[in-house]
Amino acid sequence: MTLAVWDYLNEFEAERDDILDAVESVFRSGRLILGDSVRGFESEFAAYHGGGQCVTVDNGTNALVLALRAVGVKPGDEVITVSNTAAPTVVAIDAVGAVPVFVDVDRDTYLMDVEQVPKAVTERTRALLPVHLYGQCVDLAPLEKCARAGGLALVEDCAQAHGARRDGRIAGSTGDAAAFSFYPTKVLGAYGDGGAVLTGRDETADALRRLRYYGMENRYYVETTPGHNSRLDEVQAEILRRKLTRLDTYLAGRRAVADRYAEGLAGTGLVLPAVAPGNDHVYYVYVVRHPQREVIMREMERRSISLNISYPWPVHTMRGFAHLGYRPGDLPVTEHLAEEIFSLPMYPSLRPDDQERVIEALREVTDRL
Ligand SMILES: *Cc1c(COP(=O)(O)O)cnc(C)c1O
Repeated sequence: MTLAVWDYLNEFEAERDDILDAVESVFRSGRLILGDSVRGFESEFAAYHGGGQCVTVDNGTNALVLALRAVGVKPGDEVITVSNTAAPTVVAIDAVGAVPVFVDVDRDTYLMDVEQVPKAVTERTRALLPVHLYGQCVDLAPLEKCARAGGLALVEDCAQAHGARRDGRIAGSTGDAAAFSFYPTKVLGAYGDGGAVLTGRDETADALRRLRYYGMENRYYVETTPGHNSRLDEVQAEILRRKLTRLDTYLAGRRAVADRYAEGLAGTGLVLPAVAPGNDHVYYVYVVRHPQREVIMREMERRSISLNISYPWPVHTMRGFAHLGYRPGDLPVTEHLAEEIFSLPMYPSLRPDDQERVIEALREVTDRL
């Protein structure tokens, strides 16, 4: 059988009773939307991050859309982000009518090159949207300074970085708002779609609660527009509550997998993930790099091991964003990385013997290059 790059079935087998009990408890509660499980998860998720408020939503993309709206981003405003990200980061900026402006990434960590951000600020810039990509935090200190100097909002895309820390600060606790996804593959994953926004500001949390509920504060009466229906349902919230109690165990599992790769793949010519000083990486994906990626991927496929590319196309080169006017060569580091990066099987329930098979196959394949 082909070894998948991500899989939840081992985990489900181990947690089956708890997950099914979560589902049953919601079904028996008599309340399927915005009930005790959503409220409970929101307060527990906020507490995990050291305080503030959590407003759950239906997915990570809408978490970004609502977060951008809640901090005041308006149509025509510019939002500075990266092109080396999951496309939804940029889809969300576009969905609020704002204009994405890209800076390049650091050639070692593949994260936003924060030194380029001040130069990208114009009089139309309204927000900065760094992405804690692959499970590692962007250095937010210079961005906070830049945001304060220019009166800009700072919104963190934490969809890949649940529990990650930099200099002791947990992802999502610094910005004016932080968006999370609970898509099943994520570090904290639901059994379906889910998302949340964290914020330390009461007025932002109030705005978010209206935005996800048609613009209403109370039933049937619209207070503000625009409105959305963007709620997390009770079943997913209850599952997430149970899984949140195990988040630190999942993080330890991911780090153990990463450590075994680092040891097993040393000397193969693969460029392994670089962890910036002060970072606690959570390894949402384990991204490596090699100039002969296509050969390696083909040979691994022949050995029944699937790999993935996160992501094969920089967002600024996609047809759907052609109207932004970027040209090949505009973001050289991002474009170069997209030709060489690929990711290895990574999830906390990856069995050591399966991982050993990946390492041995990679050693054999790279040996012949
Ligand atoms: C997954 C992801 C999103 C979108 O989350 P969904 O829940 O799939 O809508 C946004 N940004 C990043 C960086 C992601 O990885």
